[in-house]
Amino acid sequence: MTEMLKGIAASDGIAAAKAYMLVQPDLSFSETSIDDPEAEVKRLNDALEASKRELELIKQKATENLGAEEAQVFEAHLTILADPELIGQITDKINNDKVNAEAALKSVTDMFIGMFEAMTDNAYMQERAGDIRDVTKRIMSHLLGVKLPNPALIQDEVVIVAHDLTPSDTAQLDRRYVKGFITDIGGRTSHSAIMSRTLEIPAVVGTGSATTDIKEGDMVIIDGISGDALINPTAEELADYKQKAEEFAAQKAEWAQLKNAKSVSADGKEVLLGANIGTPKDVQGAVDNGAEAVGLFRSEFLYMDSSELPTEDEQFEAYKAAVSGMNGKQVVVRTMDIGGDKELPYLPLPDEQNPFLGYRAIRISLTRQDIFRTQLRALLRASKYGRLAIMFPMIATVQEFKDAKAIFEEEKAKLVAEGVEVSDDIQVGMMMEIPAAAMIADKLAKYADFFSIGTNDLIQYSMAADRGNERVSYLYQPYNPSILRLIKNIIESSHKEGKWTGMCGEMAGDQIAVPLLLGLGLDEFSMSATSILKTRSLIKKLDSNKMKELAEKAVTECETVDEVKALVAEYTK
Ligand code: PEP
Ligand code: MG
Repeated sequence: MTEMLKGIAASDGIAAAKAYMLVQPDLSFSETSIDDPEAEVKRLNDALEASKRELELIKQKATENLGAEEAQVFEAHLTILADPELIGQITDKINNDKVNAEAALKSVTDMFIGMFEAMTDNAYMQERAGDIRDVTKRIMSHLLGVKLPNPALIQDEVVIVAHDLTPSDTAQLDRRYVKGFITDIGGRTSHSAIMSRTLEIPAVVGTGSATTDIKEGDMVIIDGISGDALINPTAEELADYKQKAEEFAAQKAEWAQLKNAKSVSADGKEVLLGANIGTPKDVQGAVDNGAEAVGLFRSEFLYMDSSELPTEDEQFEAYKAAVSGMNGKQVVVRTMDIGGDKELPYLPLPDEQNPFLGYRAIRISLTRQDIFRTQLRALLRASKYGRLAIMFPMIATVQEFKDAKAIFEEEKAKLVAEGVEVSDDIQVGMMMEIPAAAMIADKLAKYADFFSIGTNDLIQYSMAADRGNERVSYLYQPYNPSILRLIKNIIESSHKEGKWTGMCGEMAGDQIAVPLLLGLGLDEFSMSATSILKTRSLIKKLDSNKMKELAEKAVTECETVDEVKALVAEYTK
């Protein structure tokens, strides 16, 4: 019988394909003493040989599918596999201590990993520790006769099933084969979900049990619109979903007609619809989906895609590509927002009990000014190639904004003194994603050129509910009157100072929220590129004065999300 799984709809679209389990197998073993070291060394050599063949294949596939740069890591793994010092020590251990190959492998590699990890001031060596750990896993899997998942080797259409996907896992998925993904944990605004929307891969997250309920090779239907998944559906169910997928495609084709239209309400109020991007490569998707701006360039993805801090020149090229790709339309680049669920292997952060409340984003930039100033210089140099704006993430206080802005001004003055051409029209704004900042938006509006409301974090901090934790995802309530009141205060405060407010959190593309946001006077809506056209289609049908009345009522009269939703339904029918 078909089994049904319910999760959170994370990325629109419908996919049906065989399951590919991206789960780590159990690699535990017991240490045993052996009496035939020669046979044991042969076991080790066979496992090394099998690992080598596998890695060569993976490297070749990764080069074809993802490019030579992404495949580099496998070259590093092959080098480790052939390292005479490492292999020699493992062999010696088997011969001298008479232990099984698994135990010898673990003991020697643990020693090397510990040694490299201890070099805390050497990011390169620390990374090698990660490589040795990966290679050890591979050899161990061959010794134990279990299979490791190798996503780079996927060559059939699949639905990826995983406990969770990190942003870097998601970035490596090849769209030609990966038709959808489903996870145990995560929420609509976890970064893997956001990436899946950018890649236009249907996704259902936070099902709680995808990796236990689904088995490798099961047929799986992912409905990224409703959040449902079906395991081993009947032919009839498959046909139903095929029809649903066709309807969705037809709807998309209708929205596509609005690609070059303005974003204007039925009564003529114009707003701006922008795209959120993670790398300059996403600019094409933004343009194809009719973006009138980039409202958020998450610059931290440049840092995450790299094996060391990106240089000023590398960043300059990326920002230049983004601003020139948008052809004079505004591109808002957010300075590095590392921390929370976004980590850099080469910039180890202290272990913290609450990383989302910890040392992150602007807090890192203000203490690691070397990193911050390099980024600002790259941005300033790119400013002459288009219309660039900059914003700072996670601003909580007026002082933080002033400090960050002062550093920006210093770097700008230095570049000008060096004779570098810099635009004199760069707006400098801030993310509004901490409730404390939202409450003093009137004060911050005196200094910031604009606000961009980050509802993904603003909601998690206001409701005290981790955005990636499916157990508390019921508290992710964009339409809660508390959130609407904060948004209203932010927008009104900016307007009083003659400034503008955008929104780059996922709420900006939420079809129930859009009427409310239009009514609250939001100037710019920035979202996953794939949501732009349907939002434009919706705005065209709305009357801005009526939406103003709706928003006022929701903010002053409603007590619950359900009341707000009912009100929206009444005002938009
Ligand atoms: C937000 O917090 O709403 C936001 C846009 O930033 P991020 O999702 O990258 O934290
Ligand atoms: Mg945020």
